[in-house]
Amino acid sequence: MPLTHRIESQVAGTPVNAYLVEGEHRLVAIDGTLTVSGARAVRDRIDAIGKPLAALLVTHAHPDHYGGAVEVVAGSEAPIVATAGVDAAIRRDDEGKEAILRPMFGDEWPTQRAFPNRLVEPGAELAFGGIELVVRDGHWERWLTNLDALAAELPDGVTLLPGHGEQAGRELLDWQRGYIHRFVAAVRAGDWDDPQPAKQSVVAAMSAFLPADDLRFLMELSIEPVAAKLGLLEPSDS
Ligand SMILES: [Zn+2]
Repeated sequence: MPLTHRIESQVAGTPVNAYLVEGEHRLVAIDGTLTVSGARAVRDRIDAIGKPLAALLVTHAHPDHYGGAVEVVAGSEAPIVATAGVDAAIRRDDEGKEAILRPMFGDEWPTQRAFPNRLVEPGAELAFGGIELVVRDGHWERWLTNLDALAAELPDGVTLLPGHGEQAGRELLDWQRGYIHRFVAAVRAGDWDDPQPAKQSVVAAMSAFLPADDLRFLMELSIEPVAAKLGLLEPSDS
């Protein structure tokens, strides 16, 4: 049974998790963190455990999951693994992320970012020695379907390891479902003829629902893409 290590970084008040799954002979890293120091903390833990890194898996295209990848894999041969959709969104949005994140995080936002270099299909079952992982992919509709499937499949005492914050049990699935419904409803409720106030109305609705402000900018990054997906807003190039 592989061990799981959580490495939390808290740069500029933004709590971000990466995980190391420890098999008998090798490690798999899940997510690359946001910052240079966050990713170096992952690297330090890899060195402290003393087993080679087999791969870094990037769960999604937000900057707090791929930004530090370049530092996590430094000095190793480990591939950076993602779905084609995640890879495409990272490459498409990286320049825009630079413009948003450099002023927020300064030198902590890596000046060189590494992108995925091994693509996996949604539904793929990955095995690294004794470490077995399954890829679940999708935007919010698929995400809701995945949550329903997980709620049906996962045993009662299951431990969930989220991208932010402490581990939790099955109740996290319900919270996540409520969050997605509320977010999509808030985007639909906006008057998108005037995007700026529409965006602010979503921020206000979600701030009332979120337990803390520390991850708000990441929620904000999703507002316009979801409005575009709903046909409420012209998709932007950035
Ligand atoms: Zn995140």
